[in-house]
Amino acid sequence: MANTREHTFIMVKHDGVQRGLIGEIIRRFENRGFKLVAIKSIQATRAQLEVHYEDHKGKNYFESLLGYGSSGPAIAMVWEGHGVITAGRSILGATDPIKAQPGTIRGDYATAIGRNVVHGSDSEKAAKREIDVWFKPEEILTWHRAGAQHLHDKY
Ligand code: GDP
Ligand code: MG
Repeated sequence: MANTREHTFIMVKHDGVQRGLIGEIIRRFENRGFKLVAIKSIQATRAQLEVHYEDHKGKNYFESLLGYGSSGPAIAMVWEGHGVITAGRSILGATDPIKAQPGTIRGDYATAIGRNVVHGSDSEKAAKREIDVWFKPEEILTWHRAGAQHLHDKY
């Protein structure tokens, strides 16, 4: 049975906000048939980013993740749907935008790895940890999407 309650954490990073890409990024997830179950604007703190990016501690770009990431607002979202973690990664495109395919967000809108516009969880475990950093459980809503039977054949 498809897990239509799968969740991923998607963030329009500060560069994406500055570039005016919030609507474009939301549109791509909506068009694909995913459901927005939480959204807010955030002013990330270094402490939050340290947990969010904990796998990158010690890397030479870690300071810039914390410094640039906390320099201005970002948009935090939780998207729901069958396969949303894997599909979300392909909607984003490769981490290095130069290698990202056209048609992906990064392949269409970015050129620099440190300004790649958007974040998406890469596994179920990461999604859970990241959602916990940015949202309280009660901020994640449950709602029925009208016409869901036209998006999923089994659920
Ligand atoms: P993602 O999951 O595709 O976002 O990529 P990673 O989890 O590997 O890295 C997290 C973020 O760190 C990336 O989105 C980049 O913004 C940044 N990053 C990763 N590798 C590099 C690097 O080699 N140089 C710089 N400047 N930033 C990097
Ligand atoms: Mg990652």
